[in-house]
Amino acid sequence: MCWCLNKLCPDGGLNKPKARTSRATPGSKPALKLYTEVAYLKGAGPAVAAKLHLLGLRRVQDLLFHLPLRYEDRRQLTPLIELRPGMEVLVRGRVVASEVRFAPRRNLRVAIDDGKAGLVLRFFYFNEAQHQAFANGRWVRAFGTARATAHGYEIVHPEYRVADREDDLPAEAKLTPIYPLVAGLTQSRLRELIRQALETAAADLEFNERLPGLPLPETLTALRVLHQPAGSDLPTLLTGQHPAQLRLVSEELLAHQLCMRLLRGQTQARAGIGIEHLPSAAGKLQEQLPFAMTVAQRRAIAEIAEDFSSSSPMLRLLQGDVGSGKTVVAAAAMLACAQAGLQAVMMAPTELLAEQHARNLRQWLAPLKVEVGLLIGRLKKSEKDAALKAAASGTIPLWVGTHALFQSEVRFAKLGLVVVDEQHRFGVGQRLSLRDKGLDGATPHQLIMSATPIPRTLAQTLYADLDVTVIDELPPGRTPVQTVAISGERRDEVLARIFEACRAGRQAYWVCTLIEESEALEAQTAEDTYRKLREELPELRVGLVHGRLKSVDKEAQMRAFQNGGTQLLVATTVIEVGVDVPNASIMIIDNAERLGLSQLHQLRGRVGRGATVSQCVLLYQPPLSEAGRARLDVMRSTNDGFEIAQRDLELRGPGELLGRRQTGLIGLKIADPVRHADLVPELQKLADRWLAKSPELAQRLIARWVGDAQRYADV
Ligand code: ADP
Ligand code: MG
Repeated sequence: MCWCLNKLCPDGGLNKPKARTSRATPGSKPALKLYTEVAYLKGAGPAVAAKLHLLGLRRVQDLLFHLPLRYEDRRQLTPLIELRPGMEVLVRGRVVASEVRFAPRRNLRVAIDDGKAGLVLRFFYFNEAQHQAFANGRWVRAFGTARATAHGYEIVHPEYRVADREDDLPAEAKLTPIYPLVAGLTQSRLRELIRQALETAAADLEFNERLPGLPLPETLTALRVLHQPAGSDLPTLLTGQHPAQLRLVSEELLAHQLCMRLLRGQTQARAGIGIEHLPSAAGKLQEQLPFAMTVAQRRAIAEIAEDFSSSSPMLRLLQGDVGSGKTVVAAAAMLACAQAGLQAVMMAPTELLAEQHARNLRQWLAPLKVEVGLLIGRLKKSEKDAALKAAASGTIPLWVGTHALFQSEVRFAKLGLVVVDEQHRFGVGQRLSLRDKGLDGATPHQLIMSATPIPRTLAQTLYADLDVTVIDELPPGRTPVQTVAISGERRDEVLARIFEACRAGRQAYWVCTLIEESEALEAQTAEDTYRKLREELPELRVGLVHGRLKSVDKEAQMRAFQNGGTQLLVATTVIEVGVDVPNASIMIIDNAERLGLSQLHQLRGRVGRGATVSQCVLLYQPPLSEAGRARLDVMRSTNDGFEIAQRDLELRGPGELLGRRQTGLIGLKIADPVRHADLVPELQKLADRWLAKSPELAQRLIARWVGDAQRYADV
């Protein structure tokens, strides 16, 4: 059996159109199949197709798995007389007036009446055709939120339909799904396209073939429940326990398992690069370090050494809590490569971290005459050209970089090892694209490092293709961080505390958080806070670092903080991962209630790295929500990453279940790798059975769920 992943490629594998569909000419849409491009759907021209592509929807089949975020209830018409402020309602009435007004700005005002009361529909964006459709006497059905105005109720930009007869506008029989959108695409358009996709699926024999070992209902039935649920489905849907959801979750996790296994098989079938130098390299590195490696670090190195000398490429996950010293382990492995005459790269999720790694490696390895290059996005053209040349010619053996390393122009002469730091920030595809950067086709070893402490079953979901090493020991002499939660009203006390600490020669971080992830807004908030803190603490030297700073400025700011030039560093969550300044012993997290537990734990991990007792202040804005309070309580009660991960699991309520967690990176659409971890062991067994008995089904399921299988196939 050949496990060639090209089979997963939508263009090259089982999902391949039997005869290639010809480009559309107007009026000649081909009969729809699940693999047909979305542009061929009724109501989806090139413009709509482009929007769908932005959502990752390329083929009709992809639409099936674009699942609703939530549902709206439009099963009941509300008489206009019963409207109350803020009610989300479905209403129906006759147009009694419609006119374009110009105050306060151009808007279309449509008055409707249902015999007992009236309502205004108001549009600020409309075209002439829309205006004309609201002819007096016609019927309108509208859905939206009623607000009270001086002249009665109005709905701004309702979703609506117009018809000549009242009977043509009944309430919906089913709940109305609300989908993730992009600008320029409407819910109703998407709903209609998904309806066509469901119809296409119903006519597809292969799609409806029974999948052995998975819980019922069958895929199509399950999809119908999610896209068009009946009212009676709703309660179970909201708890995430509906059989339809469990079926799809199982399918998706199975697909993921299958995909990982195939990838692993594919990698292991390749020839490895034998490297025997790790034990001696580790010894040489140790001589350069100001500390002794821990037992756990040495054990990790020993496991890597074994992988290095085996005949197939290493695929190892190095897991260890924040501050456990993973970088040293990676450094030893990289040094071994250099001594074997090979190259190694370490990939970091942020420039800040890449620069720090480069600094550390240089400090440790310069005495050994091993050069370390840096490859980040914002290098000047001349610097970048020089770096690319040095990488391709092999003159510089060790490299650190950000995703700039993925770019296709980057080539290495003789890549022996790829280290990926903070793996949770990268997708499988990115990892693989680095793997294939070696010139001569040999497959480099891969070392994946993650500080995210995750339960074992979860690790198997996310990293089924990896062997796992855990660093279960922190370097000696660390004192646990003391954590307090303080209301923003007591900010003055916090400032006093910072002042005292800095006067005593210590350093502090002040991290600004935002609800929305926007680099620009976050940078703005950090700059405002920076200015304010400089006024409030004029005696202190304050620094500022955020994602919008130029690379050189960021580097300068970090360096200044590292060597004590600045005492207080105002930062955004860019410092969340990896940043290491041992003298910093106070971490203030502003609006800590906004962050999730794992992020809080990562941030807190920036302190407690030196010998002095460190403090973490969780500054919150009252009133705290129940969930916010619970998270802060967890942070106060423990420093243990695994325990925090466990509590995180327990605290996450249902209701976030309709498939859109932060799992985007690993490409999960509906399954939650944490919540559904208990399904994994059974599915792993099932994956084995499928691969043994029905590999073609496996391919099909992967193509179905890992929609952009291209990602896996291309790299
Ligand atoms: P992480 O596992 O979070 O990536 P780092 O590699 O950044 O941790 O290490 C955290 C800090 O601990 C660094 O300052 C590093 O130099 C230091 N360190 C690493 N190993 C040891 C050790 N065995 N003894 C003392 N300090 C260590
Ligand atoms: Mg690290």
